[in-house]
Amino acid sequence: MQVSVIGCGDAFGSGGRFNTCFLLHHGEERALIDCGASSLVALKKQGIDPDTIGTVTITHLHGDHFGGLVFFLREATLMKRRKRALLLAGPEGFVDRLKTAMETFFPGGWIDAPPFGLTLIEYEGEKELVLGPLTVKPFRVRHACGAPPYALRITFGGRTVAYTGDTEWVETLCDLGADADLFICEAYFFSRPINKHLSYETVAARLIDIKPKRLLLTHLNEDMLHRLADVLHDVAEDGMVIDLN
Ligand SMILES: [Zn+2]
Ligand SMILES: [Zn+2]
Repeated sequence: MQVSVIGCGDAFGSGGRFNTCFLLHHGEERALIDCGASSLVALKKQGIDPDTIGTVTITHLHGDHFGGLVFFLREATLMKRRKRALLLAGPEGFVDRLKTAMETFFPGGWIDAPPFGLTLIEYEGEKELVLGPLTVKPFRVRHACGAPPYALRITFGGRTVAYTGDTEWVETLCDLGADADLFICEAYFFSRPINKHLSYETVAARLIDIKPKRLLLTHLNEDMLHRLADVLHDVAEDGMVIDLN
């Protein structure tokens, strides 16, 4: 399995980075974790055809993590090129929020049954789900966004990727990232303790309890970007490809 960083920015495009989106690919199957507002642009900048993506799994309902689905779906339904069925999954309340966002940006744009086949799924708490080629285990985290926020542990192509989404520290992150082939972890600030988000120093101090095989820091704000010389772990960059095979 390969992981491509489509976007590793925060909500404000700090450092010119695109909003959150990671592409998982294995064989003919492609899936996204999160699809932030700028993700359709970011996919095309990296030469990735959105019509080849069969599954999108969303951590939480902030625009920098799910807002890009509006443009992704708008293109798929309007341009009529898409042949592959599409499965979209997100937290409880996801379907209503997606329809509302779609109708806000493109009135009349929501289509219940597009010809390519659209399946919409909402998580059921922390119950493990099979979503297309992915096995997804949601972990409830702490990050106010008008719906339950989750971190996701995903098994695909014989490898495991864990992603925190946005959250302040919660002990469940130790189970989320344990022994993961790749642990993608928010590091919004360098050291400042803040509600709703993780700092690098918090993550670095607890890494011994998480024990992932590999760590990749993401969702950096300007403060973190100015402290990169002090960061001892791998930091995501848009366009980065990680081969987990
Ligand atoms: Zn975010
Ligand atoms: Zn958020």
